[in-house]
Order: sequence, then structure tokens, then C-alpha cells
Amino acid sequence: MADDKAIKSLIDGLATTQNDTSLADFVIVCEEQRYSVQHRLILALHSPVLAKTVKGEFKEATKRKVDLSDDGPLCVKALVHYFYALSYTLPDLDRHDEALILNHHVKMCIMADKYDIQPLKNLAISVFKGAAKDIARAQELSGAAALAYEAAGATEEIRKTIVDIGIERNLLSFKHDTSLGRVMADFPEFARDYAQTVEGQLAELKKAPSLVGGGARVRETEKRYKCPICNLTFVVYFQRAYVYYCPACASASGRQAQAWLSYVVDE
Ligand SMILES: [Zn+2]
Repeated sequence: MADDKAIKSLIDGLATTQNDTSLADFVIVCEEQRYSVQHRLILALHSPVLAKTVKGEFKEATKRKVDLSDDGPLCVKALVHYFYALSYTLPDLDRHDEALILNHHVKMCIMADKYDIQPLKNLAISVFKGAAKDIARAQELSGAAALAYEAAGATEEIRKTIVDIGIERNLLSFKHDTSLGRVMADFPEFARDYAQTVEGQLAELKKAPSLVGGGARVRETEKRYKCPICNLTFVVYFQRAYVYYCPACASASGRQAQAWLSYVVDE
């Protein structure tokens, strides 16, 4: 096996050839965009599905051109970058638009599954998980949820992450943001996964040693809080050291579980 230095120099070399069209022998078309690809080998190495397209008797192989317009220009641009750099580009849009970024990662996961590029799929899942950690509002997650449930076969891990984050942040309970509920109406499997996960978490709570003796101990940890922003009062059990939000005013009210103790009110 080659040493790390040799592997790194090969990878660096690959990255620098991305814009060198002198060795190109294949073209990827997506709507108005054309990407010249250095040697069909690149495509064949990454994707067994695309390998068949470039090697076989298909018209794509003889014409040395494949049309990936169905995948959309942002994903195809990101895919071509991945072929050379083993990372992918984000859309040229507002980097603070969390919803669009999450949607992009879901689409990359779906595309990686379609072309059977497992390392790209793993990458998309991992960056999705990282980006989803920062979201605070249901509407930021709802587009990704709809995409993930529409392509359920390709997105098992992403769907699980969406459900976990939704439950952890009470995203379904936000008063003025019903977007996750609307996705559930379109994809009943989403509601089923949510309910099953809540059921599993309840079962774990009942099993926890500190709760031996029944439900009474659970109630002891529930408190009524009064939101300092909108004055809504709500009863909740802050399970861990984590940032929690008022169900009505959402992201503006985010504070650590410990900090919420200043806003406890008597029943
Ligand atoms: Zn509030």
C-alpha cells in the first residue's frame, strides 16, 4: 500500500486538474452548463452507475456525453467538484439561509445514492447532521423533511436525524410555525417515525433508575416557566444541559436549561 505522502500527492494532483480541460474526454451536461471531465476514468472510479454509462454501448458512451439535468444545476456543480476534490460546493446563495443549505445536503445524499457513490453519501449525511445542529425553527427543517421523506429509500439516516432534532427542540409544538405538521400531513410515515421515537424515549425514561417508584418522580422534575419575552407560561421537563426555546417565540428566547431556572413560576 502506498504511504500517506503518495496518497496525498495523488489527491492534490487530482484537485489541481479540475480546471485543466486538455485531458478531457467526456462532457457532463446540466441544463445550460457543460462540464468537461478529465478522462472517463474519473467518473468510472467514483460511481459504478456512471461507469456503466461511460463504458457501455449506451449512446452516452459513444457520444462521450451524459445529461444530468434531472439532478439540477446546483447538485451537478457540487458533484463535479466532488469528483476532483472529494468535498462538495454549497449553492451560491445566502450562506445564512439554513433551510436552503439543509435542503442541498439532502439532495446531495439522494444523488449520491442514485449514482451509488457511498463516500459522497456518507459526507452528505455527516454535513447535514452538523448543519442541522444549529437550527432553531421548524420552518428551517421542514423543507429537508419533505425532501427526505419523498426519497425515503435514500435518506434513512437523515430522516432519523430530522426526527431526533424535531423532538429534542419541540419543533412540532411551535405555536406560530406549523410547517413540520404540514409535512406530516403529506408524509404520514414522518408522523409515524416521530411517534415511534417519542414512544421509545418514554420507554427509556420509565426504565431509568432515578425514576424507580413510578411516575411521581418524573413530575418532580417538571416545572412551570414564564417566558421573559412573551410572558407565556408553559410546563416542561428540561431533560439535559442544552439550549431550550419558548414554544411561542422560538429562537429569540433560546437559553440554557440552567438559565431558565430564573423564570420558574409557581403553579
Ligand atoms: Zn415566549
